[in-house]
Amino acid sequence: MNQRWRLIALWLLPVLVAGLLIWQILGSGTTQYSNINPSGSQLTPTTNTAVGRMTYGRFLDYVQAGRVTSVDIYEGGRNAVVEAIDPDLDNRVQRMRVELPGLTPELINRLKEEGISFDIHQPKKAPPGLGILGNLFFPLLLIGGLILLARRSNSMPGGPGQAMQFGKTKARFAMEAETGVKFDDVAGVAEAKQDLEEVVTFLKQPEKFTSVGAQIPKGVLLVGPPGTGKTLLAKAIAGEAGVPFFSLSGSEFVEMFVGVGASRVRDLFKRAKENTPCLIFIDEIDAVGRQRGAGIGGGNDEREQTLNQLLTEMDGFEGNSGIIIIAATNRPDVLDSALMRPGRFDRQVSVDPPDINGRLSILKVHSRNKKLESDLSLENIARRTPGFTGADLANLLNEAAILTARRRKSAITLGEIDDAVDRIIAGMEGQPLTDGRSKRLIAYHEVGHALIGTLVKAHDPVQKVTLIPRGQAKGLTWFAPDDDQMLVSRAQLKARIMGALGGRAAEDVVFGRAEVTTGAGGDIQQVASMARQMVTRFGMSELGPMSLENGSQEVFLGRDLMTRNDISDAIANQIDQEVRKMVKQCYQETYEIVKNNRDAMDYLVDRLVECETIDGEEFEKILSDYTTIPKKERTKPVLN
Ligand code: ADP
Ligand code: MG
Ligand code: ZN
Repeated sequence: MNQRWRLIALWLLPVLVAGLLIWQILGSGTTQYSNINPSGSQLTPTTNTAVGRMTYGRFLDYVQAGRVTSVDIYEGGRNAVVEAIDPDLDNRVQRMRVELPGLTPELINRLKEEGISFDIHQPKKAPPGLGILGNLFFPLLLIGGLILLARRSNSMPGGPGQAMQFGKTKARFAMEAETGVKFDDVAGVAEAKQDLEEVVTFLKQPEKFTSVGAQIPKGVLLVGPPGTGKTLLAKAIAGEAGVPFFSLSGSEFVEMFVGVGASRVRDLFKRAKENTPCLIFIDEIDAVGRQRGAGIGGGNDEREQTLNQLLTEMDGFEGNSGIIIIAATNRPDVLDSALMRPGRFDRQVSVDPPDINGRLSILKVHSRNKKLESDLSLENIARRTPGFTGADLANLLNEAAILTARRRKSAITLGEIDDAVDRIIAGMEGQPLTDGRSKRLIAYHEVGHALIGTLVKAHDPVQKVTLIPRGQAKGLTWFAPDDDQMLVSRAQLKARIMGALGGRAAEDVVFGRAEVTTGAGGDIQQVASMARQMVTRFGMSELGPMSLENGSQEVFLGRDLMTRNDISDAIANQIDQEVRKMVKQCYQETYEIVKNNRDAMDYLVDRLVECETIDGEEFEKILSDYTTIPKKERTKPVLN
């Protein structure tokens, strides 16, 4: 049987079973009737006359006329078989069926008065078990077949046999008796660690708190972007406290069948209660904990039931029972407010991407078991990786180790680290381009970016320009972002727009407007979004410091389907004009810079085509022969 067929069969069979049951019940009525059907063998016809029908009125007439000789009453007085004689036909005996209105005392008295022999037959009962068995025979057969079918399909992984498993909740959550993770393994998130150390004490020494009448919180919500170490922190808490770790991902709650998620929650808490003290970790809680009734179509029954069950379970156990629930999300904004109520996840701990010192300490943790070249400084790596999360850094060191092994070196050097960073940010390295017109055009495009990056004071300095393709890009210009920049100024945003336009401007200056290429598509998209944000989000245009966003993002994920649109058409028009004005002006300035440095650019392009890569310092040095380069102020972050 192919898979689709089985799926259909699985749904069809219960329907069939139900249908058959109904049929059986209805059918059993008829069976009973026929049991006492007067035409059955119970009555031995004395004559050859067939059983006819007679109305009740006629029957009464017959009784009055004294023609009735005997009456057999069936079904508690609803039916009777009457024997009557027909004086016109030689007193032949006629047997007739009569429907009676019921077995009334008057009727019985009447029959007695007339001296008619009568008998009242009780319905013949089959032995009780047998009847039921008979009725259940077909359904049982079908259910048996169903189970067999389910068994068979269960043996196929991922097959629709899963449909049959929903009754018994399989333990989908993982339980680790000992996580083996300690706080020392989590680095760079000092504040979060401090907040969570208390949770360890809750688990280890609850008396400390309960003795003074304090209620131990039940739930802690870890909020932070992916890869910052939320799961790791939760494990570390369990590891430090030495308690079992139950973990389950929010998305695992939500299943095809309504009610399965809820029963999983019940299961999870049941198991946890048997193992107190313990820690329950719910990853991606936004998958279940989203605002109820939100989204297209008004929400998802299964998810909401699951969430309700979760809330019920959290209310259901005492605060001091030794279970602490830790949930993780990167979208606290979409969570149902009921989750944050006191007594539930009333504590929030934010786990932020690490700063340079955090990165350094994470690198230290992850380089423990790696062989690094002695002069490789982790500080340098930390400096090179602003924006990297803990998971990125772990990945970086691993990639570098793989590269080292591939290059048959004995220890990781800066070269491997650099390549690994590039690879993580921009993707896999491709084959170098073959010399030709395309390569020159790409070289001009990239040099255009780098030229603006170097000559505009507010721009991040150039780290390197390369013609080696990576990921989707045919050439790349890398800039060194300022370390851990928190705020971005208007001048910097404008510089970034100009930098992004540099590629197109170079194509324009060198090859003419008719020859510009699609290569600038990505840049232009970036430009548009930056310029629009400057106008609508950051109040950096002549429209003034007003938020002009119409929050139309993420209808599917967010809270409300109906988005506020509080921007009038007139304002929308003005926004468009401001954005256009800004981009146009930036392009003008960019075009001028590129045009005025045509000679330097020609030389740099020749060099780039020849060497494939020019690093930032060399680029600056060559350029300084042609023009003055503004000095860039950079704050060097203090390492401690
Ligand atoms: P999240 O749950 O926040 O998405 P994880 O805890 O799953 O992130 O992190 C994935 C991996 O990244 C961890 O197993 C660990 O190796 C590494 N990692 C992330 N953050 C840190 C950190 N702060 N310190 C050390 N390692 C980290
Ligand atoms: Mg995680
Ligand atoms: Zn570009």
